[in-house]
Amino acid sequence: MWRASVLTILPDIFPGPLGASLAGKAMAAGAWSLDVVDIRTFATDRHRTVDDTPAGGGPGVVMKADVLGRAIDAAAADARPRLLLSPRGAPLTQARVEALAGGAGVVLICGRFEGVDERVIASRSLEEVSIGDYILSGGEIAAMALIDACVRLLPGVMGEPASRNEESFSEGLLEYPQYTRPQVWEGQPIPEVLVSGDHGKIAAWRQAEAEKLTRTRRPDLWTAFLSRFRGGSRTG
Ligand code: SAH
Repeated sequence: MWRASVLTILPDIFPGPLGASLAGKAMAAGAWSLDVVDIRTFATDRHRTVDDTPAGGGPGVVMKADVLGRAIDAAAADARPRLLLSPRGAPLTQARVEALAGGAGVVLICGRFEGVDERVIASRSLEEVSIGDYILSGGEIAAMALIDACVRLLPGVMGEPASRNEESFSEGLLEYPQYTRPQVWEGQPIPEVLVSGDHGKIAAWRQAEAEKLTRTRRPDLWTAFLSRFRGGSRTG
């Protein structure tokens, strides 16, 4: 079973959205499990202190290496990747999500405040992972995003395995536009090709739309797509 362990000072906010819909059903069905570890229980003082002021001065507080180190040692004795959610980390990609979903699970460490004492990152071999170039107030929502992205790829979780391959990023392109009934809404019809019943034409239209969207919205992805799938020969 794919196993996620989350280390946090806010255990009560889990499973949150992970308990609903696809992920929640998959958890209930035993496709994955979630252990939530309250970092605070590894504090040793009377006040259960998990943070202290930054060495060298400056605003805020930093999560203590001793408390976090003990929590990691207790919760993550196995070989699963240990990821620290962090805006300094490598941005999470669908390729990384696929690799993580194909493994035994993840151990996720959620920062708070100004972040965590640098020493614990190296000594416990934490890999920093970011969910985007913006600052959240804690790693919990980032951890939920990462888990959600992995869980939907686990065997049997998504209704139709085929739909995975057509999604944004899985072929290096953004997804083509989608429509459903009613046939005409506020005077706008569904593109005729989609109701033509001609599967070859539909596939060609979708491919062309996906390429157009990617080229205009995400030149970075488009360039990568050209070099990966077309040997860099097309100029678009
Ligand atoms: N002072 C830090 C930000 C701390 S934000 C800095 O400037 O780098 C507090 C915590 O929120 C972080 O420790 C991290 O766990 C989480 N976090 C914030 N933004 C994130 C992001 N984009 N991706 C993943 N985790 C993030």
